Amino acid sequence: MTLASQAPVHLNGQSNEVIISTSPATGRKLGEVRVTPLSEAPVVMQRARDAQRAWFEAGLAFRLEVMRNWQESLRRNFDRLVGMVVAEQGRPPFEALTEFLACIDLLAYYRSVARRALAPTYHFVPLDPHHRHWTVRQPYGVVLVITPWNFPLMLTITPIAAALVTGNAVILKPSEYSTQVGELLARTIRESGIPEGVFQIVHGKGDLGAALIEQNPDKISFTGSTATGRKIAMAAAERLIPVTLELGAKDAALVLEDADLDRAAHGIVWGAMFNAGQACLSIERAYVMRAVAEPLMQKMKAVIEKYITVGAGESPQVTMGTLTTQAQLEIVDRQVREAVSRGARLICGGKVLEGHSGRAYAPTILTDVTPEMRLMREETFGPVLAVVPIDRPEEGVQAINALSYGLTCSVWTRNRARGIALMEQIEVGHASLNDHIITSSVPQAPWGGVKYSGYGRSRGVEGLHDMTYAKVYSAERFAPLPRELFWYPYTPFKYTLLRRFINVYYATTWRERLAALFGR
Ligand code: NAD
Repeated sequence: MTLASQAPVHLNGQSNEVIISTSPATGRKLGEVRVTPLSEAPVVMQRARDAQRAWFEAGLAFRLEVMRNWQESLRRNFDRLVGMVVAEQGRPPFEALTEFLACIDLLAYYRSVARRALAPTYHFVPLDPHHRHWTVRQPYGVVLVITPWNFPLMLTITPIAAALVTGNAVILKPSEYSTQVGELLARTIRESGIPEGVFQIVHGKGDLGAALIEQNPDKISFTGSTATGRKIAMAAAERLIPVTLELGAKDAALVLEDADLDRAAHGIVWGAMFNAGQACLSIERAYVMRAVAEPLMQKMKAVIEKYITVGAGESPQVTMGTLTTQAQLEIVDRQVREAVSRGARLICGGKVLEGHSGRAYAPTILTDVTPEMRLMREETFGPVLAVVPIDRPEEGVQAINALSYGLTCSVWTRNRARGIALMEQIEVGHASLNDHIITSSVPQAPWGGVKYSGYGRSRGVEGLHDMTYAKVYSAERFAPLPRELFWYPYTPFKYTLLRRFINVYYATTWRERLAALFGR
């Protein structure tokens, strides 16, 4: 039996199954991978466990050397990787390049900060000066990384880099829709000289991910839909496995009257249409002050008409690719149709375009939407932007916060202070002024959302720490004392001494401190 990414079928765990990857826009076969039988999950886990300790004990310098090799291997394979993202996802090369850039930048950043970020910290305790206490970042052990298809480089390299640098072994299960990019990435990691078993890739659908969780990995890094994230969180909770969840969103832009409308039109169209809207941080809703809503919509329509050509990513003139999966196209089409049937007004787009295996969707702007429409409540994950005129900025803030998602937002205004004040009121992990998406590629910035958009952070130093737990050590500085202050016996003398210490040391003014020392 075969599993084509065009039309996936249920896996039954037979080892002769394959996943055939095809271009979403042309149907061209790109390659195939063997499906990992569910029965192999324990073997994969054991291999990772066996390899992890030596990887950690080899030390940070060795691991950073491997990461340097990986960076080189990625760079050397730039054309192949970008070419495969274009072919397998259906995206224009420029967009694949920007994803690649963010990945290699993160790897270089981790190499430069890892020593400092993972260095032990030392603690001095006044009542215990003869002890030295220190905290180190300890790897969890085996990290299971489960990824989606929409940014197959970034969402894979980000958790893997953090997990490997910190000394974990990694099992990667990429999406069944991005197996060929996954395989190429795996090859670049193997080329880096990573020891056998420290990194493994497996292929399959959700049931394989679930089977691997049953093998009790020490940490799970999941990126994908909120619905799957919830299932994973429940499975992880039963086993008390720590988990980082990067989930879905319904992100918004808030446009004030004094915004630079030309810039806003370009920025919001890009934020909504990049990767054909198949981005967790896409702008799917724009709350726009009524006085500028109509002119902004016309400007955005003009930007789309001038700059967006939809089609197969491989074609040089194409600036927006096809949708990667048929299921996603159907969700987008259904949401737009339902909104229009309930009174939404199309400014442009709103239909599946001819050709390209039926996977091309016209860049769409619509308005006169209501909060009850699916389009305004659920993630669309396509090139669709809903514009809602508002009378006060606070109305926009309220509507943005009313949904349970909270990944990114942007505020568009020439008044910096007011814009930042509004950003402070919006419940998200990332907020930008007069721009969108930008912070997702700042390597120092921790990435992640709130509410239904998930928890935990990747990227930045927090992303490294997220793959570790704090382990605290304590040892005497010199020879051990015969007994410690807090051990038996509990004497009145020790009680009085400690009472005096509390009063003196924790007094908040010098006057109080002196009074405690010499008086009461
Ligand atoms: P998905 O949830 O359908 O699948 C993601 C991965 O989970 C796949 O590898 C899949 O095989 C696996 N999976 C499915 N069921 C599973 C189970 N029960 N146990 C273990 N693994 C299971 O998501 P998708 O359609 O591939 O990706 C799109 C979604 O990802 C969107 O909702 C998008 O917003 C989200 N996303 C979030 C971020 C972020 O950083 N917050 C980034 C990119 C994508």
